[in-house]
Amino acid sequence: MLLFLDPAELGTYLDAFNCKSCGDGNLISTDPLSYTAEYACDECHASVSRADLDTVEDDLVEKVEAVDTSDVEAVAALLNECLEHVRPTNYLALSLKRHLVHLYGRTPGWRLNEALAERKAGFCRELLSAFDVVAPGLTKERGLTLFELVSVKLFTFASNNNNNNSDDQVDLLKTCLVDLKDAVACLENERPGTFEHMVRLTAEKQMEQCGELIEVLKFAQFSQP
Ligand SMILES: [Zn+2]
Repeated sequence: MLLFLDPAELGTYLDAFNCKSCGDGNLISTDPLSYTAEYACDECHASVSRADLDTVEDDLVEKVEAVDTSDVEAVAALLNECLEHVRPTNYLALSLKRHLVHLYGRTPGWRLNEALAERKAGFCRELLSAFDVVAPGLTKERGLTLFELVSVKLFTFASNNNNNNSDDQVDLLKTCLVDLKDAVACLENERPGTFEHMVRLTAEKQMEQCGELIEVLKFAQFSQP
């Protein structure tokens, strides 16, 4: 953990490119405090000049800034394009995943199914890990992302409702309660009338509902012959 508190490491973590030589490693800066230092692969040690990467990065930045962030297909296609060049933890990939997390399951034609739910949850977790490093603490982004992660868990809960062990279902709801409590704390200072405040109110309502569902499931278990 201490490793990531070093601003130099922080830079490499968010700014890693794919190594085209071995196709496997992370191309990371040989000197994160310098904008001109060359990048080297942590697997095969091939190196690339920062200027060459700038060309790739500038092109992607332009596209990321221009993409219609309400167009799921366009954002997802651009993410795929980015991932041909950058690591999944690169800030460009993360910024697109952040949009997708809010679009999947909330856009006409993009209702959650099992595969989409898994993809959305994976993105949420990647974003939360990145926030732990770059913006630890109770931030608005963290609150909104936790809320989206819970939406996936509740989808899973509803999908499992008739064919799963109720102990597992209770455990799933308990993790929702933990995440929702964290989300509410993150969004505590948002002003009434804002989107974030509305999310906070919804999260509070969901906490109540999860609590009630846990009681119902426990009771059902208890009264089974
Ligand atoms: Zn390599």
